[in-house]
Amino acid sequence: MGRKVSMVIPVYNESVNVGVILQAIRCEFKNLDYHYEVIFVDDGSSDDTLDLIKEQALTYDNVFYLRLSRNYGHQNALKAGLDNAKGDCVISMDGDMQHPPSLLPKMLAFWEQGFEVVYTRRLDTEGVGFFKKLSSKLFYKVINFISDVKMEDGVADFRLLDKKVVAKLKEFKETDLFLRGLVKWVGFNQVAIDYKAAQRHSGKTKYSLSRMIAFAVESVTSFSVRPLIFSVYLGFILSLLTILIYIPYLANAVMTKNHFPRWASILSLVAFFGGLNLTLIGIVGIYIGKLFMQSKARPNYIISETNKPIKEKIPAHDIVEF
Ligand code: UDP
Ligand code: MG
Repeated sequence: MGRKVSMVIPVYNESVNVGVILQAIRCEFKNLDYHYEVIFVDDGSSDDTLDLIKEQALTYDNVFYLRLSRNYGHQNALKAGLDNAKGDCVISMDGDMQHPPSLLPKMLAFWEQGFEVVYTRRLDTEGVGFFKKLSSKLFYKVINFISDVKMEDGVADFRLLDKKVVAKLKEFKETDLFLRGLVKWVGFNQVAIDYKAAQRHSGKTKYSLSRMIAFAVESVTSFSVRPLIFSVYLGFILSLLTILIYIPYLANAVMTKNHFPRWASILSLVAFFGGLNLTLIGIVGIYIGKLFMQSKARPNYIISETNKPIKEKIPAHDIVEF
């Protein structure tokens, strides 16, 4: 028998999908020579997702669940799964069948060839609206423009990580997690697989527009201080422009002794610099906020219930025992 594979699946109100994805995974592993475990991370679902997972866990002894004490978000749920996975490699995938389990053999084959990170690239999602497509394109364009870590279009949290990489990721104590970026950042031998994403098996997306915007801000501010530098440039250029605009007026006033309307110039200056200040303070504020959150060093999640022994080397502050 081969090495051990941990599957990590964050689920948030995915009741119908739990059984479906589990069956699909079982099917794939039937033809593969690996031990495997499936870890569902229930990210505070309010439907019967947890009950259905528990049912499966009774039937299959390689099915585990980690119930988070509330909804901590996809990234933190993933981290909880990674922290508690014991396999020689960990494969993370969404619980809605948008990440095809049929890619598993190919991912594992790359791993056997010595790749430590096998990530996947979504080519095109069937049945996904124009807006979501556009926003995801824009998302990567903006991130790559503004951020220090380059990311590829369509790379989601469907990937295989060798245990070496997982061990490194476990050491990360970032409050604001953006795993896609972190995985790219840690390096190692990486390889990509392209796939065509399917539609959600059931239910609807948990990423609303506001969540997507929050995600985009997260991905930039957790990887780059470039917005701070931008703001300095912006401030400098705007100030320069103001001076240039006012030079002719000033010259005119001096030469011809005609006054130009002072109220207009004062008003525009006040409004202009007021806006500029707000922008810059806002950007600085985001980073200060991050320092504040990080300085509290709160855990990324709290596990309230599990059928998995979680005593191993996980840093003590990640687990609150009940
Ligand atoms: N998810 C989660 N916590 C959340 C939101 C989503 O664990 O707060 C899970 C969700 O159940 C799914 C995966 O993360 O398995 C991806 O979410 P979704 O399909 O809604 O995102 P999309 O595919 O639309 O980007
Ligand atoms: Mg999805």
